[in-house]
Amino acid sequence: MRIQTFSVIAGSAACNARCPFCVSRMTPPQGMSLKLPEPHWRNFAKACALAQQAGVTTVLITGKGEPTLFPDQVTAYLAALAPYRFPFVELQSNGIAIADGRIDDATLADWYKLGLTTVIISITGIDPQINRDVYLPHREAYIDLVALIARLHRAGFSVRLGCVALAQGVSTPERLQDLLAFARANQVEQLTVRPVTTPDPGTVQDLSVFEWTRDHAVPEHAWKALVTWVEANGNRLLQLAHGAVVFDVGGQNLCLSNCLTIRPDEEELRQLIFFPDGHLRYDWQYAGAILL
Ligand code: SF4
Repeated sequence: MRIQTFSVIAGSAACNARCPFCVSRMTPPQGMSLKLPEPHWRNFAKACALAQQAGVTTVLITGKGEPTLFPDQVTAYLAALAPYRFPFVELQSNGIAIADGRIDDATLADWYKLGLTTVIISITGIDPQINRDVYLPHREAYIDLVALIARLHRAGFSVRLGCVALAQGVSTPERLQDLLAFARANQVEQLTVRPVTTPDPGTVQDLSVFEWTRDHAVPEHAWKALVTWVEANGNRLLQLAHGAVVFDVGGQNLCLSNCLTIRPDEEELRQLIFFPDGHLRYDWQYAGAILL
């Protein structure tokens, strides 16, 4: 059995953003609540051993909420991962607590020393008004994205912008070019763009997520036009097993997911997911996809 990514759920279900497309509300809670759980360290060690034996190169520290609300736990996970020497250790975040200064420089330095390589910031594009409306409707303004990227670079991290494409956002080649120009100007190492996912209404915890994503989804013809533009203007570098393709577009790394429908090799698990209660799963959606 080969495994691509080892995802580690840090923090609780709490989040400082209010995304109407929140992935956490799309997938079952799987034992997560607003209370910070104490990770099941014995099973975490087993998960690390399995990931290492299965050839995992990338660990993704992510959450059912926002992991950086609990920086000490992120530090604890990084410390527990360090002996396994996984080449890439990534942290997925909305970036708000880092931009607000709730995560101080000493903590970023600790994370760097413990092996964190990449910080992935979720955005909907570079329009501060759309980002504010989606992530921070309860605040007057969105965070200073340029300053956040610069701070992460100063701390030694690679930055990946993970853009969720919406109909009013990155849904045309022109808007994608604006995003690419922004990424280039700010030396963003990696950029990922994927269209917002409309879940099956029967599987969501909260029907408003289904309704919002349905109403804001990038129309299929628009997404195809965007992919066609990238195919014509970029150089295809790499095809990932889950249907994502990595391009170089004018010197900027760009990964488009939902590019093609590629069936993953059934011998390969796309990911291994560690839940703090000690459960080890391989699918976010189906409770039956469990190893421990
Ligand atoms: S940042 Fe992530 S966890 Fe927080 S509300 Fe948005 S999608 Fe949900």
